[in-house]
Amino acid sequence: MNNGLHGRIALITGGSRGIGAAISRALAENGAAIAINYREGADQARKLADELVKTGASAITVQADVSQADAVAKMIQLVKYQLGEIDILINNAGIAITRGIDTLSEAEFDQTIAVNLKGVFLCTQAVLPMMRAKNWGRIINISSGAARGAGAIGPHYNASKAGVEGLTRGYAARLVKEGITVNAVAPSLIETDMMKGQESLVSRIPLGRFGRAEEVAKAVMMLIDNSYMTGQTVAMSGGMSFN
Ligand code: NAP
Repeated sequence: MNNGLHGRIALITGGSRGIGAAISRALAENGAAIAINYREGADQARKLADELVKTGASAITVQADVSQADAVAKMIQLVKYQLGEIDILINNAGIAITRGIDTLSEAEFDQTIAVNLKGVFLCTQAVLPMMRAKNWGRIINISSGAARGAGAIGPHYNASKAGVEGLTRGYAARLVKEGITVNAVAPSLIETDMMKGQESLVSRIPLGRFGRAEEVAKAVMMLIDNSYMTGQTVAMSGGMSFN
């Protein structure tokens, strides 16, 4: 274990599987105590926490739907009570409902914005008082290549992730003097449950394969380590696009 983040407490939304699980592992390997949030997959979250505890890390699981303000408030209180005040927030929880422009419903649009965009706002607002009191904080928002490019999911998803990058810059500008950095990582086509059934998309990637969740986690760790970098989006797409 590298102890660079020893004493830091991190909350990873949607940390139970996919990209969130890789980020949870990387944070734990670097010595942070971690809270793994999930919405429904309690078993998967518990299994990951057990795996990390066996390596000597501190890890808890915490259920909450990030689109619900009350649930987010309870989650933050629980993390504070069990681990302490949060230093690092990874806004990773997200959904991808693949729809064409003729089949996208209002309910699907609203649900996507509620989880992918409002969830980032709710979690950020809830942790900020703790970070501001310490004059230190790191917030990393998981965006997507779809924030700027065509994407494969649909316009509702594009809009939600473009909004996440707007929140990233808006908070970054207002928090920079308080020791809090806010950045985004924008991956495209990472091999997780979200990409199941979408294997044909590999043909779009010049590198010739999907990205790996661990590769996204490495970009997240680089941003956590850098206090001069804020308001930025780090993109990764195997050569599909260049921002
Ligand atoms: P995934 O494998 O589908 O995992 C999604 C995670 O988010 C799960 O832990 C899930 O918890 C959680 N989650 C979903 N809705 C939630 C809610 N309302 N409240 C709390 N947790 C919720 O997805 P992934 O591929 O790792 O994606 C992670 C992030 O990266 C998302 O924001 C996604 O948009 C973004 N992203 C992914 C790709 C890609 O190609 N995979 C590309 C660009 C961006 P449960 O297991 O409990 O449901």
